[in-house]
Amino acid sequence: METKAVKKNNKKIAVYAGSFDPVTNGHIDVINRALELFDEIIIAVGTHPEKKTLFSMKERLSMIKTATKDMKHITVDSFSGLLVDYLDKYDVKFILRGLRALSDFEAEFQSAVTNRKLNHEIDSIFVMTSAEYFFLSSSLVKEIAYLKGDVSNFVPRNVESALKKKFRSK
Ligand code: ADP
Repeated sequence: METKAVKKNNKKIAVYAGSFDPVTNGHIDVINRALELFDEIIIAVGTHPEKKTLFSMKERLSMIKTATKDMKHITVDSFSGLLVDYLDKYDVKFILRGLRALSDFEAEFQSAVTNRKLNHEIDSIFVMTSAEYFFLSSSLVKEIAYLKGDVSNFVPRNVESALKKKFRSK
């Protein structure tokens, strides 16, 4: 019997959706852990009509591509609209999300339940970050970089340079 985890081509695929404004070592940690569970991960960078981002879609995609260039079984893509529609397009049944402190739980639970209501075949899989990234967020990284602090332990090297460049003139 074919389970819902296995697509026709026998590949287990998950979509890791988020703003990635910018991608952090916490995101990379989640991706690395999830690669133990899935054959392929599609990192889907979202456009949020109400969310203003520091980096453009082009910049966010390019930063993730560079940061994951040595990793296998990763695809980087953008999406807009409903995430469930995006998953449907590629016949993917799993949404990958990272969990940090307890504060993530409520919003993540709400979005997982909503997505499942929109498409009952879809399940969200949560990967717990490692302790060192437990309190790390893209917002925190932006704040530190804005105040000219050292973010080298929190983001890939190329993201650190991009943040420096972004805030140089400010
Ligand atoms: P969104 O705006 O959709 O929350 P983010 O880029 O902030 O987009 O986050 C994408 C996903 O990565 C979310 O599931 C979020 O909880 C997770 N995430 C973000 N930072 C970390 C981290 N440091 N450790 C683990 N998961 C994280």
